[in-house]
Amino acid sequence: MSEQHPDKKAYDTMLGRMKAALEQSETLHDLTHYIDHAREKAVELEELSREEAERIGDYLRRDIEDAAHYLNETGKELADWFQFDLTQIEDNFFSLFSNMVDNTRESLQQFAQQAQEATVWYTGETMGAGTLRCQQCGEILHFAQTACIPPCPNCQATTFDKQWEE
Ligand SMILES: [Zn+2]
Repeated sequence: MSEQHPDKKAYDTMLGRMKAALEQSETLHDLTHYIDHAREKAVELEELSREEAERIGDYLRRDIEDAAHYLNETGKELADWFQFDLTQIEDNFFSLFSNMVDNTRESLQQFAQQAQEATVWYTGETMGAGTLRCQQCGEILHFAQTACIPPCPNCQATTFDKQWEE
C-alpha cells in the first residue's frame, strides 16, 4: 500500500457520508446540508479536528459546485468536466461524486444562483478526480482519483484551473 495523504482519505470519507445522507433524506436539501452533516460526523468520530473538517468540506464544495455549474451552463456530460475517459476514474469515486453533482444541479437551478466566479485550485489542496491546467504554463495534470495537488511538474507554479473543452 502506498502512503496516502490524510486529506485524501478524509475527502473520500466525507463524500461517502454525504451520499449516504442524500440517499436517506426524504426531502431534497442543498449541498451545504450534506457537507455540514459530513463535517459534524467526522468531528464527532474524532477523525478530524473542526478546522480540518471545515477545510475538507470547502474542497468538496468547490469541486461539486464547479462541476454542477459546468453541467448546467454547458449542457455537457460529467466526462467533459473530468476531461477523462470515465473508465479510468475510480468507480466508487465516480458514483459518489456524480450523485452529489446531480443533486446540486437541481438546487442551483432552484435557487438561481449568481454567475459562477472562476474557480482556482491551489497546490497542497485536495481535489477529487479530474483534470487541472497550470495557470502559468498550461501544463495539464490528470487525476484518476482523489489527490493532493502537487506544484506544476513543469514550472513549479501553484495555481490551476480546469481546462474545459470549448
Ligand atoms: Zn506550469
